[in-house]
Amino acid sequence: MNAEEIIALSGLIDEKDKELIKKAYDFSLKAHEGQARKSGEPYFNHVYATVKMLAGLHMDAPTIAAGFLHDAIEDGVATEGTIKNEFGDEVLFLVSGVTKLGKVKYRGVERHIESLRKFLVATAQDIRVLIIKLADRLHNMQTLSYVREDKQKRIALETLEVYAPLADRLSIRSIARELEDLSFKYLEPEKYAETLALLKSKGKETTPTLEKFVKSIKKAFAENGITDFKTDYREKGIYSLYRKLKSHNNDIEKIYDILAVRIFVSTVTDCYKVLGIIHAMYRPLSGKIKDYIASPKLNGYQSLHTTVFTGDGAIIEVQIRTYQMHREAEYGIASHASYKKHGSHVVDNSETGWFAQFLPKIINYAKDDKKETPKWIKDLAESQKDIKTDLEKQEFVQDLKTDFFNERIFALTPKGEVIDLPVGATPIDFAYSIHSNVGDHTNGARVNGKMVSLDTVIHNGDIVEIITRESAKPSPKWLDIVKSNTAKRHINNTLEKQKKSRL
Ligand code: MN
Repeated sequence: MNAEEIIALSGLIDEKDKELIKKAYDFSLKAHEGQARKSGEPYFNHVYATVKMLAGLHMDAPTIAAGFLHDAIEDGVATEGTIKNEFGDEVLFLVSGVTKLGKVKYRGVERHIESLRKFLVATAQDIRVLIIKLADRLHNMQTLSYVREDKQKRIALETLEVYAPLADRLSIRSIARELEDLSFKYLEPEKYAETLALLKSKGKETTPTLEKFVKSIKKAFAENGITDFKTDYREKGIYSLYRKLKSHNNDIEKIYDILAVRIFVSTVTDCYKVLGIIHAMYRPLSGKIKDYIASPKLNGYQSLHTTVFTGDGAIIEVQIRTYQMHREAEYGIASHASYKKHGSHVVDNSETGWFAQFLPKIINYAKDDKKETPKWIKDLAESQKDIKTDLEKQEFVQDLKTDFFNERIFALTPKGEVIDLPVGATPIDFAYSIHSNVGDHTNGARVNGKMVSLDTVIHNGDIVEIITRESAKPSPKWLDIVKSNTAKRHINNTLEKQKKSRL
């Protein structure tokens, strides 16, 4: 455990970057000194594990530094001022973003899922904040056994319904897969154990066949002049297998991709060559040949898939892609998210860069009618339709950031549920978006623990508590201080009813 290990993993070579990382390492080690995790381990172990993932994703130096500091404000071992002085605005921005995200909690209330995801994206603003949060969550899930049981379930549910889909939507499959499997383990321990056992026994059964297969194709590649390639086996995720089994009447014989052979080559031409060589040797299952290179999947995934008969009774799925496609599939948006020149690959430097790259994935996601596409994503996709030039794209992203991030705010109930409101909203708007009954009987409000008047403007991340009283009722004055149409409609309705009952 040392800064050098992190630097080596990150691949960063710039002296300034290395300095920043060393400084953040020393600072964090000292700041968390004497603190322990629930497991009894030093707290710094959690911080270090989180940073290790970020370095493994080849994030840039500010992100890695922010990873070291991600719990420093929350745990009160450092202030925003200290971080700003020691590490500058960029690192502070990332650290306070992660701190804000930490306040959000999801308790399985369906109507809050979308608000919560939006909140995460909006609060994050910079995709690097989300990536730090995902790494932090992944390590917390890896060590969840030390947490109280009722808390385990809540955290696992939140992870499965919010963080894993978010990682998936950002195409960081390597993180999404592990988050899914760990959540599944805590939410459905029995089904998890069953599926895992099935996976293991099927794996044992298939491995010799796969090895034989790989040996024979390697020989054929050599004979055909393909020398630059790698192969490995991909085992299906436990949760992903469980879901697939459910959609196939639990018939494991119908699932051919439990173990798949993966072949990586350096060019697209070689991908098709390799496919040709394999098909010349083994008969493919009809209808199972998928060209995701020519037509990428909705989340941007590219690969050739085929399923072949091995000739001795077995059926094997083969996935063929370039090294670059593989990196994208495993690390998704993280492979674009570092802003600076990074080793050999140069990445987008523009201010809107990360979001522009995020966009095609959102748009593609919205086009997928089979999924229940959230409305905000559909709206995004709709407004993107006529964009052709790069300038238009840039303007769109700018507008989008303004509309999407600046016209909505996200406040929290004391329990950490997210309430999505228009800018300028007041506690009355907040009350009505919880429930019309709460709105109608609002008598007072606390914002961040302090009593406030009902016309107080709520800000992003505020924790709002509504105080109700049975005898309280809406007044016509409320119509002037609310911003949301829902609140206006309810107030008008109730005022109308009051008038009628007085007649
Ligand atoms: Mn943490």
